Amino acid sequence: MTGKTVRKCIVLNNLDLTSKKSEVLDRFTSEYMRVLDAHLLQLPLADSSVNLHHLTYSGIRKTSFLPSDIVQEARKDAWKQGKYFEGNGFTKGTDFKRCSIRLNKRWFRFIKTDRGNPCFKITYSPRKSYVIPVQTDRQYERFNSFLNDGWTFDNISLLSDGKISIVLEKEFPEQEIGQRYVIGIDIGSSTLAAVTVFDSLEGRVVRQLYFGRDVAKHQRRFIKRRAYLKSLADKGSRRAKKSLRKLRNNQRNFVKTRSGQVAKEIINLAKSYDAYISVEKLKNVRGKKGKFNRKANQKIGKIPYGKFNQFLKSNCEMFRIPLHEVDAYHTSRWCSRCGAVNKGHSSMNYALYKCKSCGQTVNSDKKASLAVAVKSLLERNKTHSLTNLGSIQISSRRVPVNALLRSDVVGNVVAVQHDYQPMESSLR
Ligand SMILES: [Zn+2]
Repeated sequence: MTGKTVRKCIVLNNLDLTSKKSEVLDRFTSEYMRVLDAHLLQLPLADSSVNLHHLTYSGIRKTSFLPSDIVQEARKDAWKQGKYFEGNGFTKGTDFKRCSIRLNKRWFRFIKTDRGNPCFKITYSPRKSYVIPVQTDRQYERFNSFLNDGWTFDNISLLSDGKISIVLEKEFPEQEIGQRYVIGIDIGSSTLAAVTVFDSLEGRVVRQLYFGRDVAKHQRRFIKRRAYLKSLADKGSRRAKKSLRKLRNNQRNFVKTRSGQVAKEIINLAKSYDAYISVEKLKNVRGKKGKFNRKANQKIGKIPYGKFNQFLKSNCEMFRIPLHEVDAYHTSRWCSRCGAVNKGHSSMNYALYKCKSCGQTVNSDKKASLAVAVKSLLERNKTHSLTNLGSIQISSRRVPVNALLRSDVVGNVVAVQHDYQPMESSLR
């Protein structure tokens, strides 16, 4: 099967460097700059990158402690940048104030310290190396989840402040979307599953349905009753203890049964449309704290997300219905009418989504399930070309559906992309 390589760039933050390490980094960077300048000096004489290599290589090798690979990278950077300046009306030979140093596999290793902190060991000259410790922050978590998802990298770029930019790659098989219809599911706290059936050919919503509206109501009742019995049990009532056990069982069975039933109903819906199913990927946020995941945590806490998901997956396998899990980014905040990204929830009524840009007020769950369906189409199409998606129209107004994809998938807000931007980080 032919595939296509997709690249993303992610910048990892470093922990503060010791003065010794900063010194090494500075020495490394300034040497790289010196080598760059040496190339730039010869640039007006060179008519090709290879020619530039012949003009500079032996001279630089005599004087520089940089390994030859890295000298080559500098030459490529100089050549690209020279081309860029030429194209933009600058004269050749403009010098650099900052740089990023691209290192291939031979010159770095991703390791962990004895205490388990992730680090990059950088070899800046044969047999000379130093270690940059990485902050285990959100960027690092994302980096890790990419690795777990099968993304790989074989070069990194060292930025002059010690940050590290990594180009991740993954091979995606060319996907054919056999199904015309996609079912987007939003798993929610008031409704177990809000569902949108979306026609990808005509770009319109065919149906929107609710499943399992009773579950939340029952859950609330169970919780209330449990609290009551627990208070009695705590006072020593044996009968209450026994009832509590029984109630817990009942609750578990109820949740299991209803989750299974709802999953079945959705499978039947998918069968009737010959649709594939898309849901939000939430599993990685379980158990984490913090504001970022609050909504997800609330969702998971109140609803039988895990059970339902499990039933959905096994049923999809059984009936050979493709299941696509989409990134949860912005699905609840994105406006399906104008494409704007808003806070969303109406201050008057949490169940309503109110767009600040266009004023649309809709049911949040219905809108979110539509967002899941649209996002699934976007993600499945992104290996082809985003321009294909002009055909998706949610309404008569133009919708910038890209808002549903993380910026590093589409462009390079957090990225240093060497193909377009050989020298500078766009971070600053
Ligand atoms: Zn709007």
